[in-house]
Amino acid sequence: MDFSFTPEQNAIRDLARQFARTRLAPEYRNREKQGRLERGLFEEMGQLGFIAAGVSEELGGQGLDGVSVGIIVEEISYGDLNAAYITVLGGLNAAILEQHASPELAREWLPRLCSGEISMALALTEPHAGSDAARLKLKATKQGGSYLLNGEKTSISFADQADLCILFARTGAEEDGAGGVSVFLVPLDLPGVSRTRFEDLGSRAVGRGSLFFDDVTLPAEMMLGEPGRGFSKVMRGFDFSRALIGLQCLAPAAASLAETWPYVVERKAFGASLASFEGVSFPLAEAETLLSAATLLCYKTLWQRDQGMPHTAEAAMCKWWAPKLAFEVIQDCLLMHGHAGYSEDFPHQQRLRDVLGLQIGDGTAQIMKMIIAREKVGRVAVPY
Ligand SMILES: Cc1cc2nc3c(=O)[nH]c(=O)nc-3n(C[C@H](O)[C@H](O)[C@H](O)COP(=O)(O)OP(=O)(O)OC[C@H]3O[C@@H](n4cnc5c(N)ncnc54)[C@H](O)[C@@H]3O)c2cc1C
Repeated sequence: MDFSFTPEQNAIRDLARQFARTRLAPEYRNREKQGRLERGLFEEMGQLGFIAAGVSEELGGQGLDGVSVGIIVEEISYGDLNAAYITVLGGLNAAILEQHASPELAREWLPRLCSGEISMALALTEPHAGSDAARLKLKATKQGGSYLLNGEKTSISFADQADLCILFARTGAEEDGAGGVSVFLVPLDLPGVSRTRFEDLGSRAVGRGSLFFDDVTLPAEMMLGEPGRGFSKVMRGFDFSRALIGLQCLAPAAASLAETWPYVVERKAFGASLASFEGVSFPLAEAETLLSAATLLCYKTLWQRDQGMPHTAEAAMCKWWAPKLAFEVIQDCLLMHGHAGYSEDFPHQQRLRDVLGLQIGDGTAQIMKMIIAREKVGRVAVPY
């Protein structure tokens, strides 16, 4: 068993760490105030190879393994969790395109996604169906060489600023469930597309919102994979993003913890440093322990993916545990700062609000536990 990163992975870590701490962290709060991730940031991250680095070199990526992509996500998110959406969503969307798009579509769009020239959302959730995503209703009706899209997607990260989206739409009957769902790549400047933006508790720089499709005509060649067979195949890509989201949440918790240790050494109460009270130091020691364990789980899951081993249950473990743990650790760190921690002078409150969203996004804890149970005992654990 070898827990060390390769020299190449250490070089990637150094580069991403430098970028996150000097370029991202100082503007973390400001990006929330602006309510968006500045466009130039996508291009900067693309130039440094931080978007979709797992894609093959001929399609614009670097052909890196999942562990290396995890390193990038962890480092970027230490500086700014919201900037890490660029890497996580970019990596998920790129993997879907690389595996399911026609060679022509992949050649046209993947290099532009990797370079940060374009941004892409993933549109699955609908107003009536989130956890039960296979019951989606947005209709794609074949008309000659095109599909006509009608319906609504909601709760879509980057809805506000994405150039394209990967869209899950119903091409078959509703009774067919997942079997009647196809996947498309949709430019969001097509006539008939409109958007709204939510006022969220956290991750305001990401611009979550709704996408509306009103008689949108899309060429049939924009379908990814085969008609009616996209859903379950594409959903497997979520095993990758779930491990990455784990690291995306743990990193800001690690940042809060690293900042809290010196604070509790410096701050005095009852004539002694706060760090001298076990009521202060023990929760922080526990946080160190749990963050280490959860981080290892995420990297092990990515390693299993890289080895071609099954990792669906492990990815679901990362996705339910890490965002919850991160929230609890950041909450403890905020409280250790007393009244000051509650103010905007410290980043803990923003981190707390930002990680909370990822207890829901990409699937809730309950759904992740259903997946783990299903992996252990089969469909009896999910009888519907
Ligand atoms: C920050 C953020 C980013 C997001 N980004 C995207 C995105 O980019 N693209 C996208 O398509 N979607 C996105 N989503 C939507 C997200 O995937 C859904 O919100 C999520 O899957 C839950 O669906 P829902 O909100 O409809 O809740 P529901 O499905 O209505 O569930 C409500 C509650 O019931 C629980 N529940 C449901 N079924 C069961 C069950 N069988 N057993 C036990 N409990 C159950 C759920 O766990 C949850 O607590 C995002 C959401 C957030 C908050």
